Amino acid sequence: MKVKNLIYALYDQMLRPGAWRNIFVTHNAFGIFSRYSHVSRATGRPKISYPSKAGAQKAAEAMSSKRGVHFSVYKCVWCDGWHIGKNAQNKIEQETGTFVNRPNALYERLKPLGIVDLAPVYGGGVRGRTLSGRGSVRMLKKVREAGGEVVIDLRTRDYTDRFPQNVADAGLEYFHIPIDRQKTDVHEIIAALPDLFERMDKGGFYMACAMGLHRTDIAIASYYVLHPSVPIADVPEMRGHRKDGKFRCEDIATRLNSIMRGITPDELKALGLPPDYEKEFSRRKKRLFDANRAFQDP
Ligand SMILES: [Zn+2]
Repeated sequence: MKVKNLIYALYDQMLRPGAWRNIFVTHNAFGIFSRYSHVSRATGRPKISYPSKAGAQKAAEAMSSKRGVHFSVYKCVWCDGWHIGKNAQNKIEQETGTFVNRPNALYERLKPLGIVDLAPVYGGGVRGRTLSGRGSVRMLKKVREAGGEVVIDLRTRDYTDRFPQNVADAGLEYFHIPIDRQKTDVHEIIAALPDLFERMDKGGFYMACAMGLHRTDIAIASYYVLHPSVPIADVPEMRGHRKDGKFRCEDIATRLNSIMRGITPDELKALGLPPDYEKEFSRRKKRLFDANRAFQDP
């Protein structure tokens, strides 16, 4: 070990959050004194070494976008070069996903109202129990005042109520797409997906099925899996399918699979998806389920 490399490596590590752990805790895959910071665990051979940080970073970025997980670079203690690694932190991130439902402005404004199961959805939307019961007009007006623009109703056509009218009376757009696990004809759902995705891209939506749990999960899962302009790292939390802390993906899988099985070339085109989309579909579905399985409520 050259002193020069040790100093470079320490200096590089000290600039990071959690520096102490990265340097000394060797179960972290790249505690820098671990021999596996220089040698590949899989092959036992020295890792690819890049002569400069910039060069390593460029290669790491290419790998990150290709594989959809984060790779970082570090100065090696053992050689003159820089290596690319997935440290333990990155591995956890890869397995659990970083859930994307961070609080957004609409969510923050609606939070004090005590809506059951209210939660943020992507950049600018929320989900929660449907606002169709008593006092719903008042609540819908609050949604409008909070900056909401559209109510996305996911219920199937087995209801009769004044809800669409109430939504309009509150000054909100009413958008309906029937979502369920199995019964609704798959082409009826697919036909409405482009409009759903457009509204979700825009933000300002209040999304609900009856309870705001199961069908809402399926709608959000469809958005993530069938709308690749959503970054693959932005995995949504499936809140409605968690029971006793365990995630059950079967119902979501049933619906996603029926869509992928049933989708016609024209419908793919309408969603802006290539004819060979199935591979990306599977990759995203797996990521969604893996992340939600690994997630533990704090
Ligand atoms: Zn090395």
